[in-house]
Amino acid sequence: MKNIVVAKFGGSSLADSAQFNKVKEIVLGDKKRKYIVPSAPGKRNKEDEKITDLLYLCHDRVQQNNSFDDAFNLIENRFLQLVKELNVGINIKEYLEEIKKNIAKGASADYTASRGEYLNGLILSDFLDYEFVDPAEIIFFRENGLFDEERTQKAVSERLLKIDKAVIPGFYGSMPNGNIKTFSRGGSDVTGSIIARGVSADIYENWTDVSGFLMADPRIVENPKNIKKITYRELRELSYMGATVLHEEAIFPVRKEGIPINIKNTNSPEDEGTFIINDLELLNNMSTITGVAGKKDFTVITIEKNMMNVEQGYCRKVLSVLEENNVSFEHMPSGVDTVSLVIAQSQLDGKLEKILMEVETKCNPDKIEVHPDMALVAVVGRGMLRTIGTSAKIFEALAKNDVNVRMISQGSSEINIIVGVENKDFENAVRAIYNAFSK
Ligand code: ASP
Repeated sequence: MKNIVVAKFGGSSLADSAQFNKVKEIVLGDKKRKYIVPSAPGKRNKEDEKITDLLYLCHDRVQQNNSFDDAFNLIENRFLQLVKELNVGINIKEYLEEIKKNIAKGASADYTASRGEYLNGLILSDFLDYEFVDPAEIIFFRENGLFDEERTQKAVSERLLKIDKAVIPGFYGSMPNGNIKTFSRGGSDVTGSIIARGVSADIYENWTDVSGFLMADPRIVENPKNIKKITYRELRELSYMGATVLHEEAIFPVRKEGIPINIKNTNSPEDEGTFIINDLELLNNMSTITGVAGKKDFTVITIEKNMMNVEQGYCRKVLSVLEENNVSFEHMPSGVDTVSLVIAQSQLDGKLEKILMEVETKCNPDKIEVHPDMALVAVVGRGMLRTIGTSAKIFEALAKNDVNVRMISQGSSEINIIVGVENKDFENAVRAIYNAFSK
């Protein structure tokens, strides 16, 4: 134990001075919280705007030779109000003036967008009395725009381990020529993970506005249970299927070091939240499913051909048709004489007829069937590895609720079962499965 916690606070956790005060209480409440990674101020209410969105808007306006004064005024007012209400000593006006000048001169989108985190970091460091470390000095990208892991990890360790307490803004770093470069949207999660790995933290806390992951989408299932522990791998499966709380790439740096991520709620800090932990740690845990998630709007193309199983290269021919049409598929369940392609409907816009014709001519199938408007439901759980009867329970629940199962696919890792149902049955299917396992 190094007694180091890295805490990242998302935009809603730092949206106004009341939220800043909550953050201060959390940070000072545990001496181990030594390295703090803030996002830019987020929405204060549903109608509000995120500072990052406003910054991108300023950049767009300059590109179109339009005035960006109105958007910048909104940004300026937010920061001025924060500084005033928090009573911090930094001269925010000066910083804002310089940033405005740079944007007017045509500064890059990445530089412009990153200033939300930069300014918020300056304010937070003053407010907490932690040192400010500009990530442009320790987080690096290569010439080709990809993250430079090796150089970064070295710089992060060297710089931060000399400092007892620091605030490091999220979302950006720098290119070899010093220019600012951001991660993709939501990238402060990635920064937090990089910092946690660099200082070999005991835990990477990710503070947001929900108490962790839920077993199912609360818009579909009423009051779903919280997930207390989830492995990195299960999380990948669930987030791929639409459960989002964390940036997809945020788990990689800490996963390498086996540092757990704890998703916590700034507005309800006493809640335990969700722990994301190492894949191996819980193999003996026999809990059943961890979560259920899914997506609508897939098309399934089923191709039938007698003796397909002995014909060499048949699937390759089918897939080459997709490749030539720039279409990727999600799943490919197969039988002796059939193979199905599950494809997101958005991928097929205007291309379906052409693809079907090409499969006809190149693959000479006995039959092609197209089933549009399908949904996929993924049931995910490390417990399924060794628990007999999980799939029986899933299918019984679906049958009892009159859901017609059109396709089944089990991931080879055996931690997920994917069920294809019609779009209209999607919500019903998620509820049926959740109810079967949540008792
Ligand atoms: N502020 C950035 C965004 O809105 C990064 C982040 O919040 O993680 O995408």
